[in-house]
Amino acid sequence: MSDISLLRAEFPILKQTENGQPLVYLDSAATTQKPQSVIDAITQYYTQENANVHRGVYGLSERATEKYEGAREKVRALLNAKSTQEIIFVRGATEAINLVAATWARDQLQAGDEVLITEMEHHSNIVPWQLLRDQLGIRLNVLRINALGEVCLNAMASMLTPKTKLVSITHMSNALGTINPVKEMIALAHGVGAKVMVDGAQAVAHMKVDVQDLNCDFYAFSGHKTYGPTGIGVLYGKQSLLEAMSPYQAGGDMIYSVTFEKTQYNVLPYKFEAGTPNIAGAIGLGVAVDFLNRVGQDAIGAYEHELMVYATEQLQTIDGLRIIGQAKNKGGVVSFVVEGVHPHDVATLMDQDGIAVRASHHCAMPVMQHFKVPSTIRASLGIYNNFEDIDRLVASVQEAIQMLR
Ligand code: PMP
Repeated sequence: MSDISLLRAEFPILKQTENGQPLVYLDSAATTQKPQSVIDAITQYYTQENANVHRGVYGLSERATEKYEGAREKVRALLNAKSTQEIIFVRGATEAINLVAATWARDQLQAGDEVLITEMEHHSNIVPWQLLRDQLGIRLNVLRINALGEVCLNAMASMLTPKTKLVSITHMSNALGTINPVKEMIALAHGVGAKVMVDGAQAVAHMKVDVQDLNCDFYAFSGHKTYGPTGIGVLYGKQSLLEAMSPYQAGGDMIYSVTFEKTQYNVLPYKFEAGTPNIAGAIGLGVAVDFLNRVGQDAIGAYEHELMVYATEQLQTIDGLRIIGQAKNKGGVVSFVVEGVHPHDVATLMDQDGIAVRASHHCAMPVMQHFKVPSTIRASLGIYNNFEDIDRLVASVQEAIQMLR
């Protein structure tokens, strides 16, 4: 593992203070901070390379296109996809899931067909299927979680039927930190002929993801949660599925030829990238991928796991504190509530100590309903966090509780 203090120094925002205190950033599940290399790549693009892609015959546009397509190749290699044709640039995980709902699912599903999700999904992997349920008359089935915040493979197997056409599951829960056994879940789903979409928004920055090894049909993630910029994300899809799918949005770049009578669509991946894309975002994401490769996704995950275990042990010494989500296989997220105090009040006081944590339902209201809490305080980790951050987190929680009780 690289020296954390050296890695930390690559993130300029961490050098600043919040409310007069050195910033302790513990909200990486919401968005990660950006290393200088990513910030520089975006600045360089706008200062020296800005032109539209896939259009100009002039050098500047060709160079912008090369960089944009170069970023696609970096993402392909990161996910070990077979081809860059399987890598669609979108706005983020939310748009990736909506794209599959609006195209593949709308084409393939009929009234009575079933989509299976888990109880720990982010709203972005619940609501698109509810919209489809209301529009097409499909059934949305929910695989429940246990008291630790885990799914049970046997329970999943018992919910799969020949009518299950899609299983859409998160790789790692943003609210609980649970890492799901997605490879096994995918194999089970394929056993009844269902396709599988994996929401990898919380996974890619914390573990190696190999879409061929997983054998998932679709995989989604967001650039901004993987040390890259906002407004860019990725949908991976198996080529045969993407080829057969209707386009998503319509406009420039996604066409091969247009007459008023008939339009021929462009080849993959452009068929799904209508209009001018987020060129700077894709280039920035490409550099974020370089960062991930340099540090190593598995090494990041292992280090964050150590921090998570330490944070859990320390927090559990606090009277009345309850950790929400204690899965055996868990990433760098610690969600907790404290008896007698409201999460928002605790987090507001922690902000005074320069500590950025999130207090909310984390866009996973059904998880809150499961654990019968309105919200949790969530500390979520990135590669730049260290043990001192955890000590300050714990001290700040203790102080906040003393003030509030
Ligand atoms: N899925 C999960 C598990 C998430 O944590 C998030 C973001 N919190 C999303 C999907 C949505 O990502 P985005 O807002 O970047 O589209």
